[in-house]
Amino acid sequence: MSISENIKKYQGSLPKNTTLVAVSKTKPVSSLLEAYDAGQRVFGENKIQEMASKWEEMPKDIQWHMIGHVQTNKVKYMAPFVDLIHTVDSLKLLREINKQAAKHDRVINCLLQIKIAEEEHKFGLDHQDALLLLAKDIQATLPHVSIVGLMGMASFTDNKTQIETEFKKLSTLHKEFIKQHPQLTVLSMGMSSDYTLALDHGSTMVRIGSSIFGARNYN
Ligand SMILES: *Cc1c(COP(=O)(O)O)cnc(C)c1O
Repeated sequence: MSISENIKKYQGSLPKNTTLVAVSKTKPVSSLLEAYDAGQRVFGENKIQEMASKWEEMPKDIQWHMIGHVQTNKVKYMAPFVDLIHTVDSLKLLREINKQAAKHDRVINCLLQIKIAEEEHKFGLDHQDALLLLAKDIQATLPHVSIVGLMGMASFTDNKTQIETEFKKLSTLHKEFIKQHPQLTVLSMGMSSDYTLALDHGSTMVRIGSSIFGARNYN
């Protein structure tokens, strides 16, 4: 199927309250434009410079989501335009986002990335560290950042039971956090291979790349 058919398929089949993030990393602007013309307005990228150059080229009514690991020294390149950063995993990063957002007189939306996978290399906060970042006294020092939810990535595995266990872990945490912090409305979990499982466990935002744009070529 074409990119625009894929977009229409997802737009037609996802539950109403679910946001589709079209993950366009490594793909050319021509592919993004095809998705845009099919009505897609939310795009996810994992490299800040790549996102910034696509932002310059693409129409201006797009919401750009950063879904990759963020190095503090690169926040300044996306601060003028980024709509949501999915991958906040430290106070140091949150402070830098606040500082750069202030320069543009903006409030930048963020998700706390929670480590749910068993794999060692995956980034993310644990339960306690995430709660610390949400504490009132910390939040009071960060007027240019708005934490609106949680994000997680399941292990890279074919084992459905394991993926489901990891999604359950995140959704349980989300339910617990939202009692104290009702602003955490977003739960970003699920990719091409596992988004239906993620939806079963309360995901409100799915990040779909290869099943919209085709397999990625990293050469
Ligand atoms: C690349 C990526 C995706 C999309 O993966 P697909 O398997 O192509 O759907 C989703 N989330 C994150 C964090 C990614 O880096």
